[in-house]
Amino acid sequence: MRPVLTVGSVAFDSIKTPSGEVSRIVGGAATFFSVVASFFTHVRLVAVVGDDFGETEMKVFGGRRIDLAGLQRVSGETFRWKGEYGEDLNSRDTIYTHLNVFQEFKPHIPETFQASPIVFLANIHPALQLEVLEQVEEPEFVALDTMNYWIEGALNELKKVLERVDVVVINDEEARLLSGEANLVKAGCAINHMGPSRVVIKRGEYGVLMVSRDGFFAAPGLPIEDVVDPTGAGDTFAGGFVGHLASSETLTDDDYRQAVICGSAMASLSVEDFGLSRLLGLADEDIRRRFEAFEQLTSFKQL
Ligand code: AMP
Repeated sequence: MRPVLTVGSVAFDSIKTPSGEVSRIVGGAATFFSVVASFFTHVRLVAVVGDDFGETEMKVFGGRRIDLAGLQRVSGETFRWKGEYGEDLNSRDTIYTHLNVFQEFKPHIPETFQASPIVFLANIHPALQLEVLEQVEEPEFVALDTMNYWIEGALNELKKVLERVDVVVINDEEARLLSGEANLVKAGCAINHMGPSRVVIKRGEYGVLMVSRDGFFAAPGLPIEDVVDPTGAGDTFAGGFVGHLASSETLTDDDYRQAVICGSAMASLSVEDFGLSRLLGLADEDIRRRFEAFEQLTSFKQL
């Protein structure tokens, strides 16, 4: 089992979905990723919070395999984000993004984290993602997430980071925007050519397509009747995906395929409640059963 270093946002989220509304709950891309990956391996978190992030909020990290030596606490308010979903949960409006202490964030990788074999760069400015890579010693494996905002606003820096990563975890809309290709297969191949040997394209409730130089793998989305809140599903997917790879002895194509299912299983659990609620109470048994549900969903008899 190898430790995973992650850098990204820790936030206060407010969320409105057809199922209800919550405000000021703990969220953030790096939070979802860390909580989920910690079911599979040890996580080293690098992020920033303000002085409004108290003992109660810190409890989301407590009792888990999450090393907080890289969590900076500075004076000011924690990053805040509010999202509102449409009836079918596929469309989301960002109501506000208050960067607050995140605005001045400079990732500082503690000495004890610098030899991390696996790195997940959550969705932050690509220049910061590069700064992280400058501070770590030749990781075995680097994965990256990004978003429209950086594809449109910091493409040159993003392309520089892409040259140095092994896997990109990205949603379908972002894959199209980044590659300029409408077809997802072509989009995946075009991103392959930018550097990463694997491109994992998240398609929301429709599942995941993994494009590598050797071929494709696809996983469906698990049919779920009561989707309460999709917030963080992408970061949760990444937590299960990278977490599984960190706990594998090898990095074969089979390991990557299992990792896609682990990510999908964790994301399918996450959407069943608001924010981190479902994830915080999970038992290993819940994860195993969800993995089996995927096996059942995709198994069929040969003709
Ligand atoms: P997702 O649903 O996968 O897009 O992730 C939502 C999470 O990302 C929420 O917990 C937000 O706090 C966080 N988030 C939203 N916008 C940003 C941003 N610009 N930078 C970093 N994190 C963000």
